[in-house]
Amino acid sequence: MTNKCVYVAGHRGMVGSAVVRRLASEGCEVITADRDVVDLKRQAEVEAFMRDAKPDAIVMAAAKVGGILANDTYPADFLYDNLIIEANITQSAFQNGVQKMLFLGSSCIYPKMAEQPITEDALLTGPLEPTNEWYAIAKIAGIKLAQAYRKQHGCDFISAMPTNLYGPGDNFELNSSHVMPALIRKAHEAKLRGDDSITVWGTGAPRREFLHADDCADALVFLLKTYSGDEHVNVGSSQDVTIIELTELVCEIVGFGGTIVHDLSKPDGAPRKLMSAERIHSLGWSPTIELREGISATYQWFRKNHAAVE
Ligand code: GDP
Repeated sequence: MTNKCVYVAGHRGMVGSAVVRRLASEGCEVITADRDVVDLKRQAEVEAFMRDAKPDAIVMAAAKVGGILANDTYPADFLYDNLIIEANITQSAFQNGVQKMLFLGSSCIYPKMAEQPITEDALLTGPLEPTNEWYAIAKIAGIKLAQAYRKQHGCDFISAMPTNLYGPGDNFELNSSHVMPALIRKAHEAKLRGDDSITVWGTGAPRREFLHADDCADALVFLLKTYSGDEHVNVGSSQDVTIIELTELVCEIVGFGGTIVHDLSKPDGAPRKLMSAERIHSLGWSPTIELREGISATYQWFRKNHAAVE
């Protein structure tokens, strides 16, 4: 990586910003571009930017992301925005001879009823979870783009599939966020208001695996440096918890002692999404941030950066 120029697309997001922080110790030049400089949904703008910037490598962390409700409510946005962004970047990377590109997917690409823990070869073996199939289809297309450009043009484009991520810079807006930032915010605000309870969507029975964004960024840089292959690679912590267990842990860390109320009008989503991390383990990478430690650090970040809700 030394002396290479790496373009991180999506540097304002949780993963992109973590990748920028992680690359600081790699001796490479990191370039980023705000939306007013290059709108990734505009092909001509992406092509012009890539011709000018001439990166050696790209981390494609730019995406339209959101929790279960946002995915279910804005299917067109989740499908179109993600398809167009990944198509524009991949084609421009090819045209400009980018040496390495890492595409970032998501664990929701796998069939709803995939055998657990989910290995990479479960892709396209069954129907998707309906609440996020739009996002999933776009992400599957992103993997296939990377494979297609590798097959047809010999491009060294690879894909990583992170599990549910959390950490500093996450989206804490309750209608569009994922479960972790939502619970941190709800528990914090309930504590401040002196409420007796917090409301959790669905039954609380679904199981989810969580990985801190800094661990994810470390894995992505590891793959960028060491992996060159057709197959996508899962990036996970290999441990999952029920939403109820997660809520109890978050409440304990935040210091909220109330009860949990269920809003059964909200969807549960996939019953379980535990990914097999065997492939990335065998390549030589493992995470280091424990769930409790990661949630505590994220809560501290939330308190510092969302003063308005104190
Ligand atoms: P998913 O992994 O794609 O299903 O996305 P989420 O992180 O949004 O949701 C994970 C699980 O947490 C689902 O079963 C949700 O119903 C549940 N959940 C419980 N409370 C909340 C909440 O306040 N916000 C969100 N986003 N999910 C919640």
